[in-house]
Amino acid sequence: MIDSKKIIRELGVEPNKALGQNFLIDEPALERMVEAAEAKGKNVLEIGPGLGVLTDALANEAKRVAAVEIDSKMAAVLTDTLREHANTVIVNRDFLKLPIRDIEALFGGESFTVCANLPYYITSEAAVKLIDSHLSIDRMVLMMQKEAADHFLAGPKQKCYTAVSVISQHYYSVSELMQLSPSSYYPEPAVHSCVLLFERKTHEYDPLYSKTVKAAFSMRRKTLKNNIANLVGKAFAAEVIESAGLSYSARAEELTSDDFMRLSDAVKAFLEA
Ligand code: SAM
Repeated sequence: MIDSKKIIRELGVEPNKALGQNFLIDEPALERMVEAAEAKGKNVLEIGPGLGVLTDALANEAKRVAAVEIDSKMAAVLTDTLREHANTVIVNRDFLKLPIRDIEALFGGESFTVCANLPYYITSEAAVKLIDSHLSIDRMVLMMQKEAADHFLAGPKQKCYTAVSVISQHYYSVSELMQLSPSSYYPEPAVHSCVLLFERKTHEYDPLYSKTVKAAFSMRRKTLKNNIANLVGKAFAAEVIESAGLSYSARAEELTSDDFMRLSDAVKAFLEA
């Protein structure tokens, strides 16, 4: 396992807190992540490779690894550390600004797996960018802050149940692989972490499904009727919701993924009529 602490000492660089630079120093956790990624012979995308601890382990197994790192200092170190891995490319870019077509091009349009210790400040945005897209992703192993993980795992009527929960669980079976304490990282973060496994359920991407879910959750205290009105107009909202077998006075946080499926189908039927 690459010794991130040693590299930091030798280079005399300070981990950048604002970029969420907490490096993984827990070897068993690293091994479990790589195992869960089932990377052998696959294309793997990593977001935030940092000093390359995970990248190196993935590159030993994968067909091709593309690792997107925002920090040019890290990217320069990585290019050197990983020079023996001809199957690995370092992309020195902000992942959030990388267009979907550029992500797709990293693997020539082939399907891929995602494995990453995500920087805490972009966790949800980065994960949703991948989940709510037409990208052909088979599975994802994502390490993140415990509080962010709660949103991906939450079910109806739970406090953390949001559009992120519904959209993720529509496309993937989401489960918790492990929890980690701050001592698994250098420097130690102030928070606990969690690794989630996302196993693909369907490759049928439907942008209207996400649009419907996001609209339903857009104003948390409002009823479904008020929120869906943004999509189909005030005059038709109640009718469309009832045609999905739902009560127009229901609230998004009470609905199951099947309910959202019917609602999205009803919105589609209305918009196409
Ligand atoms: N993978 C390494 C590990 O596990 O030790 C580092 C993980 S560290 C939690 C997050 C990494 O993401 C840092 O290297 C940081 O520079 C990088 N990063 C932060 N924001 C980013 C962004 N918007 N796009 C790409 N990389 C980013």
